[in-house]
Amino acid sequence: MGISTGEQYINRINQLKTDILLDGNRITGKISDHPAFKGVIKSQAKLYDLQHQPELKELMTFVSGTSGNRIGTSFLEPKTKEDLEKRRRMVQTWAKSNAGMMGRSPDYMNTILMVLNASAELFAAEDEKCVENIKNYYEYIKEKDLSLTHVFVSPQKDRSKKEGSEDIAARMVKKTKDGIIINGSRILATQSGMTDEILVYPVPSNINDEAFNYAFAIPCDTPGLTFICRESFAYKDAHYDHPLGSRFDEMDAIVLFDNVLVPWDRVFLHGSSIVKSLLYSRSHMFEHTAHQVVSKNVIKTEFIMGTVQLIIDSINISEYQHIREKFSEVAIALEAMKGFLYEAERNAKLNQWGTMTPDPNPLLAAVNYYPRIYPRFIEIIQLISASGLVAIPTEKDFGTDRKDVLNHHLQSANQDGFERVKLFRLAWDVSMSAFGSRQKLYERFFFGDPVRLADQLYGNYDRKGSVEMVKDFLGGT
Ligand SMILES: Cc1cc2nc3c(=O)[nH]c(=O)nc-3n(C[C@H](O)[C@H](O)[C@H](O)COP(=O)(O)OP(=O)(O)OC[C@H]3O[C@@H](n4cnc5c(N)ncnc54)[C@H](O)[C@@H]3O)c2cc1C
Repeated sequence: MGISTGEQYINRINQLKTDILLDGNRITGKISDHPAFKGVIKSQAKLYDLQHQPELKELMTFVSGTSGNRIGTSFLEPKTKEDLEKRRRMVQTWAKSNAGMMGRSPDYMNTILMVLNASAELFAAEDEKCVENIKNYYEYIKEKDLSLTHVFVSPQKDRSKKEGSEDIAARMVKKTKDGIIINGSRILATQSGMTDEILVYPVPSNINDEAFNYAFAIPCDTPGLTFICRESFAYKDAHYDHPLGSRFDEMDAIVLFDNVLVPWDRVFLHGSSIVKSLLYSRSHMFEHTAHQVVSKNVIKTEFIMGTVQLIIDSINISEYQHIREKFSEVAIALEAMKGFLYEAERNAKLNQWGTMTPDPNPLLAAVNYYPRIYPRFIEIIQLISASGLVAIPTEKDFGTDRKDVLNHHLQSANQDGFERVKLFRLAWDVSMSAFGSRQKLYERFFFGDPVRLADQLYGNYDRKGSVEMVKDFLGGT
């Protein structure tokens, strides 16, 4: 079959009978008609359609070696630096269509599947069947172009204890002849309710209890599986009022497993602590997911920079030195992110699985840097916009008999009121709305706890060259 169209994606999601709890109600009927999901599902469908545009075909797809079908580039296992560049350009083409605001567009999970497939031999330490299952699963998802959400964190209960949430965290309670049984909860599945399948893999922790060492993937409407959503931030189906929230609000949900049966052919890991640790240390999942994420965040930063410049032009504040300095901060961040990305590609090497793998050092720096700089972008937008972020009547207000008054009193240096408010409503949705706040939290935590990310950098960053340089200097005369 190969690449999906947007329509095929929507039809599939609508046919699923996923159990979704939202604000006291179980969602029934077409999910693509539901106010909380409608906008973002449409945006996701557009991504699938982009793969079919004739002028983008070469970039967005490749020919499957197994079926001859055209497959989405995010499933491509890079073998050369050119492949890595193609992956980056594909990710950025998708990101441009959502201003980089869809953090878990399907390319993220497709990248994880690509890595699992390439390093599937790692799972032989559990059993050979797991290797086969991963390979079959990758083929299945890639050939049908299905979408995935994922979840791997245990719920917050008592983080002072290593096994703090063991009693509520999803655990493997039984192995039966049909599969493994999972019971408990996991946090937090972004894109809940709008994907075909869910991938679950182990928490990177020191817990050696085999009940937590599992990995599997199942359809989202598997019996016993429930997605408990946060409130929707797509308040209204109004692009003028909520330009981002109405289009890109990827739902996050707690995932409940009520004695869910995972059939054996969907089980990738069922107890081995060795495989659990190899998954993080030897699969090179970090490098490839970080490459996808940093590619996307370059686009997101370009979008923020454009927004900042339009605000500056709108109310004509470019002569003030501190405004120019604030713009420069965003521009410097953009160049830093591009530098990390290109340097990671430039120093890429084939790993033990024969996959062209970006240099982890610049990517470690990038994923530590972005959670710190993104909140500063939000602060900058607030500092340069001031009351402009609240003097923002809705589109309906402009449809009343006060339209002329609003156009007059809310005009800017170069726009009438309607156009100026349109821009500032965007600035508000980036920096003030529930959607914007969630984006900030997401950027802070999407790759895990920033404190432990810094620790990971300390543990993995290659600094041999600089240490040797200083030793040579000290040893010299
Ligand atoms: C918007 C959003 C979307 C998300 N989407 C997904 C998703 O799609 N899939 C998924 O699996 N996960 C997702 N997550 C979860 C994300 O991976 C976690 O938020 C992240 O790993 C941090 O874990 P936590 O939230 O449990 O925080 P905690 O680990 O509970 O941390 C809370 C605080 O305690 C501190 N702390 C706790 N333990 C330690 C320690 N050992 N050492 C030092 N400090 C410590 C932290 O620094 C932090 O300040 C999402 C999170 C957010 C906010």
